Amino acid sequence: MIAKQSLAVALSRLKHFDVAKVALEQYPTESELAAELLWHAFMAGDLEGKRVLDLGAGTGILAIGAALLGAADVAAVEMDPAAISILRENADLYEGVERLRIVESDIRAYAERADLVVMNPPFGTKVRHADRAFLERAASLAPVIYTIHKTTTDHFVRAFAEDHGLAVPWAEERALRLKRTMAHHERERRDVAVTLYRLEKADCDEQAAQPHAKRP
Ligand code: SAH
Repeated sequence: MIAKQSLAVALSRLKHFDVAKVALEQYPTESELAAELLWHAFMAGDLEGKRVLDLGAGTGILAIGAALLGAADVAAVEMDPAAISILRENADLYEGVERLRIVESDIRAYAERADLVVMNPPFGTKVRHADRAFLERAASLAPVIYTIHKTTTDHFVRAFAEDHGLAVPWAEERALRLKRTMAHHERERRDVAVTLYRLEKADCDEQAAQPHAKRP
């Protein structure tokens, strides 16, 4: 098991997209931000020994970090073969990452349940509602979700959570630094305000809190 700072350092050594594909909204999560999200999940007891699913895994920073923090099993689902070949290279850098399974698939066709979803999905700025498809898939496959969204879409994420019986016990705003990896970016770097969320199926908690709910 590794400490938070070593996690950020390990993740900072991973390779990014060679050429980011605009239609797939390929923005890599910065290592500090990825480490923060994963560390929060680890400290909350959501990660160690759990079955973890990374939807839209890209070059694998969240999936690899989850494996390094002791997840029992990690499925990294990604549909872009170019991203997957970098993900494979990245996964080969560290021990412990043998618990990572790479699944080449559209997230909409993936149906294996997990204990936890971690994801930095497309923000839905290029393909409308791309973020909704990810949230829907995540909510149908796991009771706890850590996810990153553009802060300007906070109202949408919260409305989605409410409609799907998800509580939002944790939300933190951060800056995501986007490097100039896409041709349509005019400046070298720009910061985008993003929010990190922990979403949790509200009815799981209620059942746990009511002893009689367990009776046959
Ligand atoms: N999770 C990575 C990448 C984020 S970018 C990170 O945090 O760095 C979003 C990723 O989702 C891209 O790699 C893109 O190729 C992938 N993606 C977009 N739509 C997808 C879909 N429908 N199914 C699977 N992957 C998808």
